[in-house]
Amino acid sequence: MRLSKLRVRLGFELRRAVQTVWGFALVATMGALLWLGWFPDLRRPGADWTRGLAAAALAAALLVKLAGRVVTSERRRSRAREMVSDLEMGLLLLSATYVFLSVVGGVTAPLYPLVYALVSFLVTFHPLSVGCPLAAAALGFEAIMAFGPGAAPGAAAVFPGHAGFIAVFAVLNVAFLHAEVARQRRERRRCLEAEVASMREEARDFRLISSALSSDSQVRTRAQEEEKLSQGSIETIHEQLLHTVDLLRRSMGLQTCALLWLDSTGDKLKFKELASDCSHIAEGPLSARTGVLAAIIKDRHPCLLDSPRPSLLPYYQGPADVSAFLGVPVFEGLSLRGVLVGDRKQGAAFSTADVELFTAAADQVMRIVQSERVFQAVERSKHEHERFYRASAALNRALTLAEVYDAAIEGARGACEFDFAAIATCENADGQHLLSRVVGEGADELAGRTFCDPGSIASMVVKNKLALPAAGDWRDRGGSYVFESRERFKSFESLYVLPLLVKDEVMGTFTVAAQRAGAFPADRREMLGVIANQVAISMQNGRMVQALEEQATTDGLTGLVNHRTFQERFSAMLGRAERHSMRVSFLLTDIDHFKKINDTHGHPTGDQVLKRVAAILKASARKIDIVARYGGEEFALVLEGTDRAGARQLAERIRQEVGAQTHDSAKGAFRATLSLGVAVYPEDGKAKQELISNADQALYAAKHNGRNRTVCHGEIARAEQPRARAAG
Ligand code: GH3
Ligand code: MG
Ligand code: MG
Repeated sequence: MRLSKLRVRLGFELRRAVQTVWGFALVATMGALLWLGWFPDLRRPGADWTRGLAAAALAAALLVKLAGRVVTSERRRSRAREMVSDLEMGLLLLSATYVFLSVVGGVTAPLYPLVYALVSFLVTFHPLSVGCPLAAAALGFEAIMAFGPGAAPGAAAVFPGHAGFIAVFAVLNVAFLHAEVARQRRERRRCLEAEVASMREEARDFRLISSALSSDSQVRTRAQEEEKLSQGSIETIHEQLLHTVDLLRRSMGLQTCALLWLDSTGDKLKFKELASDCSHIAEGPLSARTGVLAAIIKDRHPCLLDSPRPSLLPYYQGPADVSAFLGVPVFEGLSLRGVLVGDRKQGAAFSTADVELFTAAADQVMRIVQSERVFQAVERSKHEHERFYRASAALNRALTLAEVYDAAIEGARGACEFDFAAIATCENADGQHLLSRVVGEGADELAGRTFCDPGSIASMVVKNKLALPAAGDWRDRGGSYVFESRERFKSFESLYVLPLLVKDEVMGTFTVAAQRAGAFPADRREMLGVIANQVAISMQNGRMVQALEEQATTDGLTGLVNHRTFQERFSAMLGRAERHSMRVSFLLTDIDHFKKINDTHGHPTGDQVLKRVAAILKASARKIDIVARYGGEEFALVLEGTDRAGARQLAERIRQEVGAQTHDSAKGAFRATLSLGVAVYPEDGKAKQELISNADQALYAAKHNGRNRTVCHGEIARAEQPRARAAG
């Protein structure tokens, strides 16, 4: 089965290679024949037509190749295969062209410019990696035609001209093509930007997005969400406004009814909605300072005109027939937002009732916009609150401190937009802060750093237990600094540093900062306050969990790993040792005559001795080793990657150090000594219990032989063997 698959694959590869090679072979043959001048000028009397037939055969072969390419062009091919195929095709076309030119008159043939057209085509429609070799090949063919043994007389003289033309055509086409692609790309980007800008402007016109947000050029998720929301609102507003305008036009028999909106400068009026029978409507925006529109804006009153002069109505362009005009201002509270205009072509002038109807319609226009604004505000706050509550829930669920910090930052993101956030924890009573989590500017550099500067805003927040700056804007950027007196964050307009308070204790600070002004208004600051409270409580919980975990794994008196954890970690280390074929040494220690120490100097002194011995053991071991209180006055040490010699050396060092210590008590100073038993994996046992038991035997031997000594299990085993044999 596998063999037959291999055979099929081999066959396929062979066919592919032959297909590729024969194309290039054909080109090489044609080149050689051209070099020899084998293709005669068929226009000359007595030309050898059999060779002409050979040229025709080449044309046929080329056609077959072309057809093959068209058929396979649909198939997906690798880039390299595509390149080889393009090269092959280009070379075939070139060789065929030169053969054709040879039989129709050689270098002086009137059809010779065909070469320039072909080179232009090849260079334009292929990538440079294919186009350049093909242009070079064309120059090669030129050289063959000019300097080969079969070259026509005078061909060498025209070579520089031909070669120069080919080079110029190739370079011009490449340059033109690249410039054109770049131009089209620029054009597309411009159109896209214009579309986005126009949508933003509309949202601003209807005051759907706050100016601070809309002026923010940075694209963010929040801004994108806002934009999406605004887009929906704009569509709704347009739909309703158009309906109103069209209804007015039809019910009042108007020729044109238009809603014109003042832009932010107050100088221009833009068409917001238009319903008209007239085709001469002016292109917007219109000047708000000319004609009847200027009068309405200035007087802030409805305006009625009978048979107005066309120049008075700037919303028409060219001849417009108007018998009566009515325009009313559109107010939002006391602010003028735009003008609602209508006119009749013929028929009665506008009545007072019409003016009232128009004024009511203008109010309606504003109500449509306002209600959509309210709807959007509700939607936005719903969305924000959802994010905020989700983050709150995440904070409640967070167990570890890392989870608490992540949830806090995520929660703040739901509440407001910021460019920098940091959680610093108070490390000790001297006001040292540790930056436990930082996002944004300088995060990599700041995270994990401690600072202790009583003049910093963060320190003041801790001291006063109040958030700073109170209004969330950083006015005193020149004089104050957040963590340290270095120049940093000077581009932030908004800053808010909150204390992380539980009851009356400050656990740390929560800092948010933003480049733009007004990023933390009152309602956002309130939300941040809620988050900070939750963070503080979660941090306290997190610390409690950490403390409980520590309690569960360490021994209270000595701070060493307790017996249960020792068993777990010893098993894990033996597993690792087996996988990586490593040695592990196990040391069991026991204080000599400890009962006597207790009896003579009292239990509290005994405890002090235990602590001192534990500290010596801890200091002697590396981070990867396990140092545990095995029980009572017995300690265990597990040394990863250490053999018997290494273990014995360390055991002796520990023993000497313990023996060198003097302990004080009411009954006078005294010394304590240590006995140690050593067992090594895998020599003295592979299973944990076996190793423990053998170390215990060694320890027993140490005690038996006079105490204050180290015994390795291998040594007692050797010492006992001859005895065992003798006994046997
Ligand atoms: P040996 O040299 O044979 O080890 O003699 P020893 O007196 O040390 O004998 P053993 O190891 O049996 O004595 C253990 C003593 O350690 C018994 C107990 O009173 C004491 N001990 C165990 N835990 C503590 C502790 O936490 N504090 C104090 N002060 N003494 C402890
Ligand atoms: Mg003991
Ligand atoms: Mg003892």
